[in-house]
Amino acid sequence: MPGTDQRHCGTLIVGASQAGLQLAASLRQSGATGPITLVGEEVHPPYQRPPLSKEFLAGRADFGALALRAPAFYAENAIDLVSGERVADVALSPAGPPGSGRAVTASGRELVFDRLALTVGAAPRRLPLPGAELDGVCYLRDHDDAADLRVRLTTAGRVVVVGGGFIGLEAAAAARALGRSVTVVEAADRLMARAVAPLVSEFYRRAHLRRGTDILLGATVAAVEGDGRRVIGVRLADGTRLPADLVLIGAGVVPRTELAERLGLDCDGGIVVDARCRTSDPAVVAAGDCTVRPHPMTGEGRVRLESVQNAVAQAQVAAATLLGRTADVPSVPWFWSFQGDLKLQMAGLSAGYDGQVVRGEPDGEQFSVLYYRYGRLLAVDAVNRPADYMAVRKALGRGATIDPDRAADPGVPLKTLIAAEPDTAPAL
Ligand SMILES: Cc1cc2nc3c(=O)[nH]c(=O)nc-3n(C[C@H](O)[C@H](O)[C@H](O)COP(=O)(O)OP(=O)(O)OC[C@H]3O[C@@H](n4cnc5c(N)ncnc54)[C@H](O)[C@@H]3O)c2cc1C
Repeated sequence: MPGTDQRHCGTLIVGASQAGLQLAASLRQSGATGPITLVGEEVHPPYQRPPLSKEFLAGRADFGALALRAPAFYAENAIDLVSGERVADVALSPAGPPGSGRAVTASGRELVFDRLALTVGAAPRRLPLPGAELDGVCYLRDHDDAADLRVRLTTAGRVVVVGGGFIGLEAAAAARALGRSVTVVEAADRLMARAVAPLVSEFYRRAHLRRGTDILLGATVAAVEGDGRRVIGVRLADGTRLPADLVLIGAGVVPRTELAERLGLDCDGGIVVDARCRTSDPAVVAAGDCTVRPHPMTGEGRVRLESVQNAVAQAQVAAATLLGRTADVPSVPWFWSFQGDLKLQMAGLSAGYDGQVVRGEPDGEQFSVLYYRYGRLLAVDAVNRPADYMAVRKALGRGATIDPDRAADPGVPLKTLIAAEPDTAPAL
């Protein structure tokens, strides 16, 4: 891999966002003294993505407020941040120390590294629809997407959102709050089906309808239609036509495994890592949205988590691994999705639940669902009930439970019900 410009990177972290920045910061906090190079494809220094579909899109936050660290942080911590450079190729040195090698960027810079971390995240899933290339068909993953969308929303009258997951619904809420006519088209028979129980999906369907957003379930987009240049609508598989000036596709993400594949690392719907964030080459670590990892609460099976909490926690673990240590990082996953004034907070993972307890009144837009398996607390989805969310997060963090019979009474604070898990509870 010949390069025109060669630099010695020490630890090379590819991907400068939530996980990459945390990894660099954790290395320094843990006393790493060698050079650290953080390379990112985006021209912007690392920033928070969650507000892009919320406050930023709604015009309530400017990009400057989203920076993850102040500009001085990088120099103060001797982190060499290289922005606007995509790592195009990477190879390990068979004869060198484990984990060492060379990478080359798209602009031809050669990066020689002693250790490698992949924090390359995920890219929006592109739908191969006829008309998908028309002007006005948008995705939402990074600042440039969100800035473009924000401008388009100032003039678009009719918006179709393809995909009723978190990002699609958050963007729909923002567009609706700006007074746009919004229709969400979801192929599944309920909203956010991968993440929440049917009861929560139904609550959100009704809540969005109440706010004037149309929701079509079990509806598949067959084509985006245009006037030759610009989008004018979408056509559904059943022939229905929905007029639109703007089509936002929120169909999930695809983990960016291309560099890992070049390195011959195991990938299976993400870069496969173990509990210490080691890839199938134990000298190379990976963290964040690009990874599939052991279930954080049971250690069994593999999951891919797309959340700030996971990116940060895995990055802390990966930093410790690079330093030859083990990290004691809290393993309870948590997540939030703010759709306008509806604040959904989730802790734990509800997959595999066999029982649920509903606290409060969905009609009053303040309720929680606690999920159990064999009577053991698994997770909570809390809508506008932050105290319930905090209590369950605390209980799960302590390996404790909350009595399902008493949890149903919304007048009893959940935090007063946290109790040790009975010894008889079967292992998850
Ligand atoms: C609109 C939106 C809203 C969200 N809302 C929430 C929320 O409410 N709560 C929550 O917990 N999570 C939310 N998330 C998810 C959260 O932002 C991600 O889980 C988190 O950003 C993952 O961090 P990461 O560093 O693993 O990956 P990313 O943030 O995807 O960063 C990966 C970085 O690597 C760069 N990169 C990739 N390949 C290369 C390469 N070859 N060379 C150089 N650079 C490369 C990419 O350009 C990118 O900047 C949201 C995400 C989006 C897009």
